[in-house]
Amino acid sequence: MATETSVREQPLAELIKAAFAEAAAARTANATKREEVRATLAELDKEAAGFEETMRLLTGLMNSWQEFDPGKNRAAFFFLTKKDECAVLNGLYPADAVCTKEEWREYRNTAHRGLSSRKLAPYYPRIDVADAARDECPHCRKNGFLVQRYEQTEDSAEGDTWMKQKIIVCLELDCGEVTNKKPEYSSSRF
Ligand SMILES: [Zn+2]
Repeated sequence: MATETSVREQPLAELIKAAFAEAAAARTANATKREEVRATLAELDKEAAGFEETMRLLTGLMNSWQEFDPGKNRAAFFFLTKKDECAVLNGLYPADAVCTKEEWREYRNTAHRGLSSRKLAPYYPRIDVADAARDECPHCRKNGFLVQRYEQTEDSAEGDTWMKQKIIVCLELDCGEVTNKKPEYSSSRF
């Protein structure tokens, strides 16, 4: 009787051991696959964040002149003159947005705060593409646009932080890279 039981238990124990080994191997394979998917997802997230940032940048280059207080509520982006001043490119604002200093003062006083401006503040230099600052794209060595990101990064009772950063924007179709330079920080507007 005792012998019979042990004979029957032996293959059962082996079956369980084999099933355990199989489950353990499947668990390892599953963990490896999940790790791979996680890494791919992290890469895609990073890539998506890059696309979002590029969209923000290009939208800003077209629209940041419409901000009453550029950089206060969102990052502002500007083309630069060769003298390093934030500028707007001719063609990227409507002709009827242009106004004199007096018109601008009156518009500012009557326009609702917080809303974006339909008028172009007269202190922005208005330049042609040929007069925009350029810098060499480190990826393709061609001439990219040198633009500036400007943003309030901290707004607290302890103090504010404003950041400005030069960015090389390559518009070559086969490159299209955006290269950030070292940011500068200040406790007040630059
Ligand atoms: Zn390039």
